[in-house]
Formats: sequence, C-alpha cells, structure tokens
Amino acid sequence: MSKSQKTVVESLKSPANREINILIVEDEHHVAESIARRMEEEGYSVDVANDGEEGYRLASTKKYHLIVLDLLLPRKDGLQVLREIRRAKVQSMVLILTARSTVEERVDGLRLGADDYLTKPFAFAELLARVESLLRRQGVGHGPVLKVADVELDIETRAVRRAMKDIQLTAKEYLLLEFLMRNKNRILTRREIAEQVWGYTFDTGTNVVDVYINYLRKSLDEGFPRRLIHTVRGVGFILKEE
Ligand code: CA
Repeated sequence: MSKSQKTVVESLKSPANREINILIVEDEHHVAESIARRMEEEGYSVDVANDGEEGYRLASTKKYHLIVLDLLLPRKDGLQVLREIRRAKVQSMVLILTARSTVEERVDGLRLGADDYLTKPFAFAELLARVESLLRRQGVGHGPVLKVADVELDIETRAVRRAMKDIQLTAKEYLLLEFLMRNKNRILTRREIAEQVWGYTFDTGTNVVDVYINYLRKSLDEGFPRRLIHTVRGVGFILKEE
C-alpha cells in the first residue's frame, strides 16, 4: 500500500465512527466508564446514563445508532426502558447486557425488540465485535472508508454514498468505482481498467470499459453539480478530486 493510500484509510476510520452515537445505560460506574472509554478509543461518540430513567430520557430525545442496555438498573428496569423506548418508536439497535441470563429473560428482551444479548462478565473484544456486527446490519459502522470529494465508499459493506445520498451500484460498477477511487487524480488507460476490474487483457474490439464508465456516470455524476469522472481523449479516464 502506498503512503498516500495508507493515510486515506487510517485518517477516515475514526471520523466515520465519530458520527456514530452510542448510549450506554449501566449503573455500575466502573463498568460504564470502562466501556465508554474503550468505545471512544474506537472513535465512537458515547453517552452514559447511570439509571433507567436517565437512559430512557436520553434514548427518547437524542438519536442513537445503538444502545447498550443493562437490565438490573435503579429507577427503571432495563426491560421497562426497552418497552418504553420501543413504544415511543425509537429505532436504535439495542444490545442487552446482563448478569442474569435465563432463557425467559432473553426471550422477553428479544420480544420487546432487543437486537442482541451479552452476558456479564464479558470480554471487551466480544462486546465490540457484537457492536460492530449490529452497526453493519444497520449499514453503518466502520470498514475502511475511501473518500474522494463528496463520495464515500465503505470497503466492507460496499455501501456508496455521494453527498450523503445512497448510490446503488451493480457489482462491476462498484469494483470500477473502487479502482478509480484508489487511483484518484491519475489517468487510467482502458487496458489498466480492464485488467484490474475485469481481470483480463485486451487491446481492442470491445468497449466494455466505456460502457461501464457510462453506467457509473449515470449513477455517480448525474444530478450532481460537479462531474467527477472525466474522459481523457485517446488515453482513458480519470476520477478527479477537484
Ligand atoms: Ca446493573
């Protein structure tokens, strides 16, 4: 990986997570604080509530992608918090944390709209893995993200957005865009593109690259004030950052 590519991937990992809000509802302060600290190190934006009332208040007033919810809580039980936030149409994913782990409680929690369960004591890596998996199910969370101008491409989920608008691409269009983004501001010949994206070499006799560049332009550039994909006559194509 070249230095510039490495910088792109590293510098984008944390900002992508920083837009992800997580609420931790846990009355044991040292547990809450250590989860919060570790999640902040991962770049997530974290709030902590130390009782059920506060948890409900935060969950129903601010938008969280994910709520880590303890069950045994003062002032309002975790299952009650879950019941009330679902009644209030809060869509956040909920991961229940509990020292108690009977089958009945799991069933109750899932029936009330929890998305996953973790029994205490747990390893932080396990919690983080569950959190990442839930966030991916929601289409957020970090894979390495490539970014060129206002286009973001998540290598793990293959989600593509331009100016925060979702862009739907076919598998080949996605690969073509990823290759262009990894080589932004560089003129790419048709031959290079064909080799890297289609995996074969050819000289003439097919216009597959041109055809797919046009498909990609329709999805990526149409309707936006600035074009990113440019034709370099007689040579190939370039994705220009500015
Ligand atoms: Ca507790």
